[in-house]
Amino acid sequence: MSTLADYRDRPHWSYSALNQFFNICSLQFAFQRILKLPTAFTPVALGFGSAYHRVMEHIALVRMEGRTPSPADASDLFQSAFERQIEDEPDLKFDDGADAESCARLGRDMCACYVEGIDPEEQVVAISEAFAVPMTDATGFTLETPLIGEIDCVVAKDGKKSLVDWKTSGSRWPKAKASRDWQPTAMLLGYGVQHGETPDFRFDVVVKNKKPVFEQHITTRGPDDFCRLATLARLAESMIAAEHFAPNEQSFYCAGCPYQTACQAWHRETARAWVPVAA
Ligand code: SF4
Repeated sequence: MSTLADYRDRPHWSYSALNQFFNICSLQFAFQRILKLPTAFTPVALGFGSAYHRVMEHIALVRMEGRTPSPADASDLFQSAFERQIEDEPDLKFDDGADAESCARLGRDMCACYVEGIDPEEQVVAISEAFAVPMTDATGFTLETPLIGEIDCVVAKDGKKSLVDWKTSGSRWPKAKASRDWQPTAMLLGYGVQHGETPDFRFDVVVKNKKPVFEQHITTRGPDDFCRLATLARLAESMIAAEHFAPNEQSFYCAGCPYQTACQAWHRETARAWVPVAA
């Protein structure tokens, strides 16, 4: 069975690329994915997220084998995964007021919180399922570039399946967020093409409060949403061809953006020509 790494070998669209282009910053998209500039640092959120994700995968595997994960084991696992992350990424940049110990403590508590929130009646039926599928818009046009992705986890209860994505968040999610997010659209399109069914999609979110909070947000999508995603990808392709990249300086993401130096020089470089600039 192909993995996400296999699918990444050829040109593709993904939820994260579309989200970065339209919702985060198209200039950051260009720096990272087109010009492939070196990064000045790795935001701690990335290292933290990787360690957290590894723990979630382990918990899901334990559940899939019919065993019951323990909060203490999940905490310990986060500690070692995060320590390894710090070793592997010495350029990890911590947010103001945070350090390795405070992040590790938070991560341990969050993993324990997640395990405590698991429904024992629910079964894990798949983990890390990758897909590469075509995208077709409402006119019937199919993009040459496929959509790829990886579904964190598929669960079932009372004969009903749900796709699950593991998330951490700095604050509680607004009610409408799950219904507007493009990630369920991408994942349900991928799953639907591969399996011929469109189940629910659920975000399992642990909020980074001093005492972490576990939230679940359920949503679904239909054929019209999949056409809309294809139209967005077509639009992105035309904007990329025309080099329509713009800074999103009001963005919440600027503080953690590893391309700040290149961004500051962008308007001067662009005035001459659209060429790579030094980070
Ligand atoms: S610093 Fe902000 S505006 Fe500049 S590239 Fe990064 S996210 Fe975009």
